[in-house]
Amino acid sequence: MRALVTGGAGFIGSHLIDRLVARGDEVVVIDNLSSGHASFIQGHLDSGKAVMVEGDICTPTDVSKAMAMDIDCVFHLAANPDIRLGTRITDTDLKQGTVATYNILEAMRVNGVKNIAFASSSVVYGEDAPLPTPESHGPCMPISLYGASKQAGEGLISSWVGTFGLQAWIFRFANIIGARGTHGVIFDFIHKLKKDPSRLEVLGNGLQEKSYMEVGDCVDGILHVMEQANEPLNLYNLGSHDTASVRRIAEIVVDVTGCHDAVIEYTGGDRGWAGDIPRARLGIEKMLKSGFDVTMNSDEAIRHTAACLLSEIGLE
Ligand code: NAD
Repeated sequence: MRALVTGGAGFIGSHLIDRLVARGDEVVVIDNLSSGHASFIQGHLDSGKAVMVEGDICTPTDVSKAMAMDIDCVFHLAANPDIRLGTRITDTDLKQGTVATYNILEAMRVNGVKNIAFASSSVVYGEDAPLPTPESHGPCMPISLYGASKQAGEGLISSWVGTFGLQAWIFRFANIIGARGTHGVIFDFIHKLKKDPSRLEVLGNGLQEKSYMEVGDCVDGILHVMEQANEPLNLYNLGSHDTASVRRIAEIVVDVTGCHDAVIEYTGGDRGWAGDIPRARLGIEKMLKSGFDVTMNSDEAIRHTAACLLSEIGLE
């Protein structure tokens, strides 16, 4: 199979490519390297198992160039990863999420590519959903611009399935963490401690509680579900069994970094920023019924990630 991975030089995309190459797939990557790094997939580029189109999915000619390379399946992961950005700049998620997803789908239609997997998010459920939240919950009312763009992307994909006969797998991810992470709470904490090992500022009151999934589990889950689920449109939450509070994450990061004297300071308030969802936990019954389970729960994934990122970033 030849896969096109949008955002393949990113955190999750690079782990996905490790798995695709390992199972013998050929991979085409389109990435503008805005938050990704070619070094994450350099081994696959050097071996010829992956080829890179350095381009922007907001530019239809760049997308057409990649889509014309005899693609069997698109893994659409490229997007602005920073939910907080929408509090300052209001059209990024619209352009790099909603419109870019349209560009991908339209290039698929023109080139006769029939299969797409999409990286959506738990934030589409908004903040009033029951916990754990099953895929059947609705209506979905996201409270961030990023969440709105994910929901719009899902709607576009569903409409391309209904109108142009695509087959799609939409994955609503929990918080994905692990080696090569380039953003998120653990990454932020390690950078803060690197700057000042005597204090750790935590946004909010630390009681925000979310579910964390290790990136290897996430990409294994994607590929497993795609083999098992064969409806025209397949919707799956991907997450772990439990949650961890931001306070707990701060404690684990302080422990793993050895910055035991760091004073943990909370900025206060029930959330990190406007549009943040204080409590989130995905229902994972459907994922479990497909025969897939995670190898790490939230605490284990957080500790593992802190150790990986500490060795990548260093404290010196
Ligand atoms: P990431 O920033 O590491 O990956 C995104 C990749 O897309 C990067 O390599 C970036 O350079 C590329 N990119 C961004 N805009 C682009 C554009 N316009 N054209 C071409 N390339 C572009 O982030 P990630 O955490 O690996 O996220 C991957 C996907 O999963 C994203 O769609 C994200 O919204 C989604 N997601 C991530 C999480 C998480 O916890 N990490 C949770 C839910 C959903």
